[in-house]
Amino acid sequence: MPDSAKAPISRRRFLEGGILAAGAGILGSRVTAWAGESDFVPAVVIGSGFGGAVAALRLGQAGIDTVVLERGRRWPIRSDGNTFATFEQPDGRGYWLREQTGEAILGLPQLVKPIDRYVGVLEVIEGNGMYVGAGAGVGGGSLVFNGIIVKPRRELFERLFPREIDFGEMEDVYYPRVKQILGSAPIPDDILATDYYLSSRVSLEQATRAGFPTRPVDLAVDWDIVRDEIAGVRVPSAIAGQSFYGLNSGAKRSLDRNYLAQAEATGRVEILTQHHVAAIERGSGGRYVVTAWRLNDEGEVLGAPRRLVCKYLFLAAGSVGTTSLLVRARATRALPALNDAIGQHWAANGDIPVIRGLLPRTNAGTGGPGGHFILEDLDNTIAPTSLVEIVMPPHINAALSAFGAPPHFGNYASLGIPPAIGSFAYNPSSDTVGLTWPGNDPRVGRFLAAAQQTLAVMDQSNGSMTLSFNPALSAHPLGGAVLGKACDLHGRVKRHPGLYVVDGALIEGSTGLANPSFTIAAIAERCLDDIVARDGVSNQG
Ligand SMILES: Cc1cc2nc3c(=O)[nH]c(=O)nc-3n(C[C@H](O)[C@H](O)[C@H](O)COP(=O)(O)OP(=O)(O)OC[C@H]3O[C@@H](n4cnc5c(N)ncnc54)[C@H](O)[C@@H]3O)c2cc1C
Repeated sequence: MPDSAKAPISRRRFLEGGILAAGAGILGSRVTAWAGESDFVPAVVIGSGFGGAVAALRLGQAGIDTVVLERGRRWPIRSDGNTFATFEQPDGRGYWLREQTGEAILGLPQLVKPIDRYVGVLEVIEGNGMYVGAGAGVGGGSLVFNGIIVKPRRELFERLFPREIDFGEMEDVYYPRVKQILGSAPIPDDILATDYYLSSRVSLEQATRAGFPTRPVDLAVDWDIVRDEIAGVRVPSAIAGQSFYGLNSGAKRSLDRNYLAQAEATGRVEILTQHHVAAIERGSGGRYVVTAWRLNDEGEVLGAPRRLVCKYLFLAAGSVGTTSLLVRARATRALPALNDAIGQHWAANGDIPVIRGLLPRTNAGTGGPGGHFILEDLDNTIAPTSLVEIVMPPHINAALSAFGAPPHFGNYASLGIPPAIGSFAYNPSSDTVGLTWPGNDPRVGRFLAAAQQTLAVMDQSNGSMTLSFNPALSAHPLGGAVLGKACDLHGRVKRHPGLYVVDGALIEGSTGLANPSFTIAAIAERCLDDIVARDGVSNQG
């Protein structure tokens, strides 16, 4: 890893360069002939996470020549077991362009370590009132996620999504389609029975004792590789409590290994890595123009920007990334007809990191990347909540013990249904877009109180203790360009033919007490079905 002490790249520098150098760049030698001869590409997808991967595959299968612009790099699993950083030995690979690890945000500044600035996998976005975690690289959030693949309950989905989106169809068609491609599956009993996964069994016992209903979840994990880890044939990763920086054994079924690999295999899809999109605008003849900077491994801009002109532009840069591009485009009049709903209706899925202590022995800091079930407190007297276990990073487990915290820990995501009152605004003096989450608004208090009630019942029933509850940090950003308001019910941006949103920005703040990636991908599948069938999508300019 390079020991870089380079000056940070400000967003302003990206944008200034993009504006000044507009028109200077055309596609270079790494792209296919059809793209290299001209700056016209029929379809461009910005971002390669859940929404972007679905769009890439379905466009490729429809025969549409497509370029995916991804700001991060590829992460092929190396045979030496050293693809990703680990919690115990972090380096730049763990983070997107940061000089230090992120534990201060968790309230553990003692654990912060300096790292080299690098195009690593986990971005920490600092909003006003909320820190947001997001993935960066080919596969987006699937590189860093805990692999938990869970469907919301029908009644919550129907309460939260526009009624035209039929849960029956989602359940019959789109969720199974995503599951099949991801290859997600519940943890097998022989693995769950090992000491590595003791904490998940303890959590289930405690949920049952507290009287909460539970149901199993799938994980996007190759369980045979976990068996190899247990057998000592592969580098310990899932069983060693790794997750957010990636799994070196290759046990995570990240999108680069399924959806995106299949998209590239169509021969129609090309992924351009380390291409950071700085601006989108309307071109002539109903086309769109995308300005992207090429980045080196330290995140510095290389040369002139690339400008692609396309007929179909799919925004899949994640809720924060997609919304920021749209809010800026409206403010700078690059896309002046965008409506007022752009930049509104945002929340973080009611996702609150929670650490519990005073449990029976859990062997925390081992088996990951996620727990094997979801607890649902649907009868909570304040509002419904859920709780899912995620892996406890071993270095945090060790530090909690060293700091004298009540022993035997568990790490969880508490999920609720927050009001979608977060918003984005453009600041012309800095040429930046900022996220604001009004964490002190009384409407937010309700879902926080509901989460605390669930945890109190868990603690009272089990003699445990909630040690940490952090509502100002989330890994589940949702909204900003939502279905039925900023977009139609299939992700078409209103008043902008050929412009689509297909990622978490479409969803109004909550996926109904469920971790969001499964629903984001299933909604994207539903969007792509309709767009490919009805929008006359073709390669002609
Ligand atoms: C640590 C962590 C653990 C998580 N665990 C789970 C879990 O277990 N289960 C679950 O369901 N969800 C989990 N999530 C949430 C899940 O990862 C996200 O909900 C999901 O990835 C969002 O999908 P998306 O398509 O909206 O965007 P993303 O997956 O975030 O993809 C966006 C992509 O766009 C790229 N990009 C962004 N801006 C630009 C730009 N300007 N130019 C070019 N490219 C750009 C990014 O690099 C990224 O690849 C977790 C998230 C984190 C951070």
